[in-house]
Amino acid sequence: MSQPDVIVVGGGLGGLGAAFSLTRQGLRVRLLERAPAFGEVGAGIQLAPNCTRILDDYGLLDEAVRLGVVPDSMVMRDAVDGSELTRLDLRDLEKRYGYPYLVIHRSDLHGLLLRACERVGVELITDAPVTSYENTGGGARVTLSTGETHEAGVVIAADGLHSLARELLVDDEPVSSAYVAYRGTVPAELPRVRSTDLGEVVVYVGPSCHFVHYGLRGGELLNQVAVFESPKALAGQEDWGTPDELDAAFARTCDFVRDGLPYMWRDKWWRMFDREPAMTWVHDRIALLGDSAHPPLQYIAQGAIMAIEDGWVLGEHIARNRAADGTVDWDPALTAYQAVRPEHCRRVVTTSRKWGELWHLDGVPREQRNTLLRARDTYDYSFTDWLYGPTALTPDQEPEMFTPIPLSSAS
Ligand SMILES: Cc1cc2nc3c(=O)[nH]c(=O)nc-3n(C[C@H](O)[C@H](O)[C@H](O)COP(=O)(O)OP(=O)(O)OC[C@H]3O[C@@H](n4cnc5c(N)ncnc54)[C@H](O)[C@@H]3O)c2cc1C
Repeated sequence: MSQPDVIVVGGGLGGLGAAFSLTRQGLRVRLLERAPAFGEVGAGIQLAPNCTRILDDYGLLDEAVRLGVVPDSMVMRDAVDGSELTRLDLRDLEKRYGYPYLVIHRSDLHGLLLRACERVGVELITDAPVTSYENTGGGARVTLSTGETHEAGVVIAADGLHSLARELLVDDEPVSSAYVAYRGTVPAELPRVRSTDLGEVVVYVGPSCHFVHYGLRGGELLNQVAVFESPKALAGQEDWGTPDELDAAFARTCDFVRDGLPYMWRDKWWRMFDREPAMTWVHDRIALLGDSAHPPLQYIAQGAIMAIEDGWVLGEHIARNRAADGTVDWDPALTAYQAVRPEHCRRVVTTSRKWGELWHLDGVPREQRNTLLRARDTYDYSFTDWLYGPTALTPDQEPEMFTPIPLSSAS
């Protein structure tokens, strides 16, 4: 095998997105995935306009829209009484940001990116667990569990939440939120789906729990996510997030939410972790990307989007630092990536935590939250402009954050 320009470690949505973006800039990219086959576990994923804009730039948006659903609205309801709190008109939102809000099955998005990588000629290698990373001066090297080594000008570590590269380069730990997610899909022919508006993305927010649903695959499936705080996790027990906790966590919620619980997959659940923001992602010729750099809690649905944005931003800076003979001046390209992405992702990771706290309130704070959300104008975009506009390539392009409204201002 001849030496590639770039090695990407990890074939999740982040690694595939980066491999495609860099190959599109004319680089030879080798992707190393530890699993025996490429794939994604889970059901739906939400893609806001800051991601569909990039898919469009990649020439992949039409296919993504064909595979997914472009919903009409996003509705937030109170999980206890079922009442509507606020909504986004997603067709109007598309006009504001120029690109649609899309929901898609994870395996369909993963398959789409994998096919795109195959088409442009990414060298895709499975069964390749990386066990060490090292800088070599003019480049970087990874070693596999077999002892085989691979070298390139740059190594991108897109190896997820439990990233080995993060451990070696940053040496911090994932932070447990004590929340756990259950996922599941309901086939369209069942009465539950026939009585549900598949044109809506709905989140029911409740005390220490929430429940999300939306349609997938042109309305063939209803995707459901049930998330709750685990009492066993809070008590320090090892076996937390088990199905008995699921049923108990939603006992106070409305009929529609409780009726959805039997459809959740009960043999698999996802404990929710993030990390404290890391502000240095580039370590000489090894760069973190995706969840290895910035795993968020999922409350503002931006984890995979940030990963896809990372790859796009890096690709754009490579284009700006590439000589006519094809060689890349890596130092300014990586410096430009490092200058803009960590601060954006820090904002998303910390806002995701706050958004989750707001969703899970009880008692008087829950009533104050509901009052404020009911008063919100559907067409007020002050809480989405910082996120859904064009992805910044330089720090000066990063939009202003929103101004938080204190709960105590609710009369
Ligand atoms: C319940 C839930 C809902 C979510 N909803 C949304 C949403 O609506 N929108 C959104 O944008 N995001 C969402 N997210 C977040 C999103 O799923 C993640 O942020 C995203 O998938 C991370 O992608 P990644 O490629 O960085 O990491 P991963 O998907 O974890 O991929 C890492 C890859 O690296 C491989 N790997 C790991 N170590 C090695 C190694 N040593 N050698 C070789 N390969 C290795 C792994 O096998 C894996 O394939 C959600 C997350 C959860 C849990």
